[in-house]
Amino acid sequence: MTPSQALQKYFGYNQFMHQQEDIITKVLNGQDVLALMPTGGGKSLCYQLPAALLNGLTIVISPLIALMKDQVDSLNVTGIPAAFLNSAQSPDEQREIIRRLRKKEIKLLYLAPERLFGSESKLIDFVLSLSVKQIAIDEAHCISQWGHDFRPEYLMLGGLRKHFPNIPVIALTATADKLTQQDILNKLNLHNPAVFVSSFNRANITYRVIARQRGLNQLLDFLQQHKDDSGIIYCLSRKSTEALAASLKQEGFSVEAYHAGLDNATKARNQEAFLRDEVKIIVATIAFGMGINKSNVRYVVHMDMPKNIEGYYQETGRAGRDGLPSNATLYYSSGDVVKLKSFVKLENNEEQSRIMLDKLNDMADYCELHTCRRKFLLNYFDENAPENCGSCDICLSEFKKFDGTLIAQKALSAVARLNQRFGVNYVIDFLRGSKSEKIRDEHKQLKTYGIGADIPKQQWSRYINELKAHGYLQITDDVYPIVKLTAKSEAVLKGLQKVELTEAQIFEERAEEILPF
Ligand code: ADP
Ligand code: ZN
Repeated sequence: MTPSQALQKYFGYNQFMHQQEDIITKVLNGQDVLALMPTGGGKSLCYQLPAALLNGLTIVISPLIALMKDQVDSLNVTGIPAAFLNSAQSPDEQREIIRRLRKKEIKLLYLAPERLFGSESKLIDFVLSLSVKQIAIDEAHCISQWGHDFRPEYLMLGGLRKHFPNIPVIALTATADKLTQQDILNKLNLHNPAVFVSSFNRANITYRVIARQRGLNQLLDFLQQHKDDSGIIYCLSRKSTEALAASLKQEGFSVEAYHAGLDNATKARNQEAFLRDEVKIIVATIAFGMGINKSNVRYVVHMDMPKNIEGYYQETGRAGRDGLPSNATLYYSSGDVVKLKSFVKLENNEEQSRIMLDKLNDMADYCELHTCRRKFLLNYFDENAPENCGSCDICLSEFKKFDGTLIAQKALSAVARLNQRFGVNYVIDFLRGSKSEKIRDEHKQLKTYGIGADIPKQQWSRYINELKAHGYLQITDDVYPIVKLTAKSEAVLKGLQKVELTEAQIFEERAEEILPF
């Protein structure tokens, strides 16, 4: 049977998506593969189809025991015999699966890494006695400390290669930057791997970041416009999911909460109700969503800034799997960054903290962008993108533009007066006429000193970012970054070039507007 025939026979599809066919061909030829595909891109099929064709067993390593059952059930329905072994099963159940494995009745066996290699009841010796033909590692980014979801038990998989020197290993993930990709290849000891990176663009999702003020009212307005739609609302804490779900219920919305602290029965019930469209809205922590395959989620809302771009992209990616227009809306306040930073320092060792803080800063940059959000996201995942996507709040020009020529001239002449030798903060303090001793006396004599005193500091920093984004200023990459002019600066200074700036959103909540939960 060819892969195309198997696609038709087992899965009922006529065509491969993304690079599925190339990936499957490599695996069937015995080559190692790293495949990056967006959520919903069809990763599972890349090892399930070879598993059906190979004359032997495929081991699938997966981090979440809860997800194994769904996958295994649907494989059994498609006619590919599959099973999982985990600690939640009774001894009898486990014995039965082991018997079937010995009789070669099973094509795919799902295991958590600690079940294969951990100290208790490890299965590696038993698995070595079986005829293993393929090893698939799902959520492979979990092996990397550079990723955002590092799981120490994944490190045990470094031992796989030694046990199975000649079996193709296929590592799959929806989320890995360049560093994480390299780390996955190294830690798994992949041989001459074929690396596949599919486009991460989700063209049907419109991205928006909105300054959070009176968060609940803003959300209610939003929901009024999405009355009959299904959506996910992410909150930072378990408590806030419950409080927000209760408030929305009072307003008459069909809504349930979901977080890791709820008992299993409630979680399962709420999730089921959402999947079956009996409940329209789920208010959840990020514990909700991994492996959830609901195609008609019309919007994903974040009530707080997420911790990193990877998580944000995965969460927003749960909208619009059916390809229809969908929304990703984030309510942001600069206070979120401060709060999240304090958590990071509490929870992690020094190296881990540094990585997480970098990721937090990237996320904050995203929130405060003046250029296309989709471009930023795709560039983050090392993918090229046009300047203007036409479907994010920036490209849709939902922020008012105004003639910022005078502001630009003030900023540029300040940089020129300071001989292009100072950083952003110094330039802003100089523009605002700061009395600080940090400002050199000779600079306090200059005519430009204080010409931007009418504009608050935060706003200046936004304008300078925007001027940089439009190429009127540059900021060097040195240890002490310095603001410099560019080839485009002179025309502005001479009044030959008009500059459009964006009315700044103020991302600071007033204390009385902060959500009560
Ligand atoms: P991922 O694991 O990458 O998030 P899945 O493997 O769960 O994605 O696949 C997402 C959905 O796409 C599933 O419903 C799957 O059956 C479907 N799918 C996979 N491959 C194809 C294909 N070639 N054509 C149509 N649908 C597909
Ligand atoms: Zn855009």
